[in-house]
Amino acid sequence: VYVLGIETSCDETAAAVVKNGREVMSNIVASQIESHKRFGGVVPEVASRHHVEQITLVIEEAMNQANLSFSELDAIAVTQGPGLVGSLLIGVNAAKALAFAHQLPLVGVHHIAGHIYANRLVTEMKFPLLSLVVSGGHTELVYMKEHGVFEVIGETRDDAAGEAYDKVARALRLPYPGGPHIDRLAHEGKVTVDLPRAWLEEDSYDFSFSGLKSAVINALHNAEQRGETIEAKDMAASFQASVIDVLVTKTVKAVQKYRVCQVLLAGGVAANRGLRAELERKMAELEGIELVIPPLSLCTDNAAMIAAAGTVLFEKGKRADMTLNADPSLELE
Ligand code: ATP
Ligand code: MG
Ligand code: FE
Repeated sequence: VYVLGIETSCDETAAAVVKNGREVMSNIVASQIESHKRFGGVVPEVASRHHVEQITLVIEEAMNQANLSFSELDAIAVTQGPGLVGSLLIGVNAAKALAFAHQLPLVGVHHIAGHIYANRLVTEMKFPLLSLVVSGGHTELVYMKEHGVFEVIGETRDDAAGEAYDKVARALRLPYPGGPHIDRLAHEGKVTVDLPRAWLEEDSYDFSFSGLKSAVINALHNAEQRGETIEAKDMAASFQASVIDVLVTKTVKAVQKYRVCQVLLAGGVAANRGLRAELERKMAELEGIELVIPPLSLCTDNAAMIAAAGTVLFEKGKRADMTLNADPSLELE
């Protein structure tokens, strides 16, 4: 089964071909980071315009590298939501046009289902499993009993982990997107600032990062007023320690409660070296549970993950028709 995946939910224009839901035949990503950097974040209108310019080229390149013609495809999978509506529409319309022209089945995919299924490009999924999804817009613990069925057992009540990284990076005057910069600095610095950890209620798997972000900004501000300086690398280390502590502790608790056999790390923040190392360390203490962490290129936005998730949905019989529309607030469950 060959599926073409298309992803345009935010600021990456991406297309990929995946064989049997497991094997990446091609994975093309045109990033727009350079265009958004000077604004310190993604500008929706700029993003849409870039998608329009890039989408045809990116899809052509994905088909060329896979060495396939459209008639050899079995389906087209596209990110339907969530994301920026103007960005999503470009991918959805490209997918609809190609599906119509080549008479191919069309499947709408949830962007976060895609992030989770990036793991299936690494190894076979074993159920029940738990996925820690940490991205620019989401922080969730997702429980799965079978393919394509998602149960969100915890989620952020305010900022997503990636969002907190980007906002703290901005406070430290680091370039956008800040996550990778904080990750790098954190390894050079020491945990010198005592920052809060939002554990919430005893039995809750929810997260909250806005208090932490405010604490960082306040600490920087207070130090400045006292004429002191906190080194960016020490603040990065302190902030990262707090984020990782909460993410890993809650994941381990959920793993024990839900008795899963696999833990999948997913989303852009899964590229974080500190998080990967600490999760590996803690999971090694639990016996018989496999931890899967995708390579960096499959953690951040890409279309191979959309094709992988789309393949499972296609095989389960899910089909979209020409009324398929972008849904900026699509639910995972
Ligand atoms: P969503 O997937 O929730 O719709 P998104 O697609 O914008 O949001 P991703 O592309 O999955 O998010 O991830 C981007 C986020 O990952 C950014 O916030 C970025 O700062 C963060 N990120 C990337 N690399 C790292 C890293 N090494 N450490 C921490 N954060 C990182
Ligand atoms: Mg992105
Ligand atoms: Fe994403």
